[in-house]
Amino acid sequence: EPLLAGRDLHKSFGPTEALRGADVAVRAGEVLAVMGPSGSGKSTLLHCLAGIVRPDSGSIRYQGRDLVEMSDGERSALRRTDFGFVFQFGQLVPELTCLENVALPLRLGGAKRKPAEARARQWLERLEVGDLGDRRPGDVSGGQGQRVAVARALVSDPKVVFADEPTGALDSLNGEKVMRLLTDAARGAGAAVVLVTHEPRVAAHSDREIVVRDGRVKDLELAA
Ligand code: ADP
Ligand code: ADP
Repeated sequence: EPLLAGRDLHKSFGPTEALRGADVAVRAGEVLAVMGPSGSGKSTLLHCLAGIVRPDSGSIRYQGRDLVEMSDGERSALRRTDFGFVFQFGQLVPELTCLENVALPLRLGGAKRKPAEARARQWLERLEVGDLGDRRPGDVSGGQGQRVAVARALVSDPKVVFADEPTGALDSLNGEKVMRLLTDAARGAGAAVVLVTHEPRVAAHSDREIVVRDGRVKDLELAA
């Protein structure tokens, strides 16, 4: 039984059929790369699996429950407790320091400031940006900002981290470094990673790859 499985997912935006029969399974602790050309439906698939976009049809099983059938409140609670997110841009809150950004998911979950920031500091150190805690996101480089974003995605011990082109805005050296830190940190924490990318070099950090074409993908793991 996979940790997270989408079956026969369909999703249209007006006349655009972004997903037209997508199957995908993610095992606990696995780093899964979702590849495919631009516009093939990768981001839509990730957003469906993460409970951000509701598919028009199909099922999304996570630990015995169907995300599609949950209430909005249950889905947002699940996102907060079980999922972490890393996107390409604009994800850090500019008014908060890097430390406060990383502590934010814990604070939103009800943690007190001191313990939340202590934990956030450990994660910043693990991502090799321990000295940037007091700076604001606007005062760090793109690669440093992505490390802070990875720390924030992992700070609440998620079961699944969703990463959409997490290194898309970085040069290849920085991109490599961030991917290594992301996958090492996730593997160390036992978290699965769903990684959307069109770059083979980025996908090379995964355990397994699936390819989306025209909104369709068959994941052979589901048939097994
Ligand atoms: P890429 O294909 O490079 O990964 P995106 O996934 O961000 O880029 O977007 C793919 C296409 O989907 C773009 O043409 C974009 O305009 C369109 N798109 C994405 N999100 C939205 C949205 N919320 N509303 C309208 N169009 C969108
Ligand atoms: P990819 O991530 O592979 O680039 P997307 O999932 O972003 O692909 O997009 C798949 C198709 O759905 C594209 O044609 C895109 O323009 C369209 N699309 C995605 N999101 C939206 C949206 N929110 N509104 C309208 N069209 C969208």
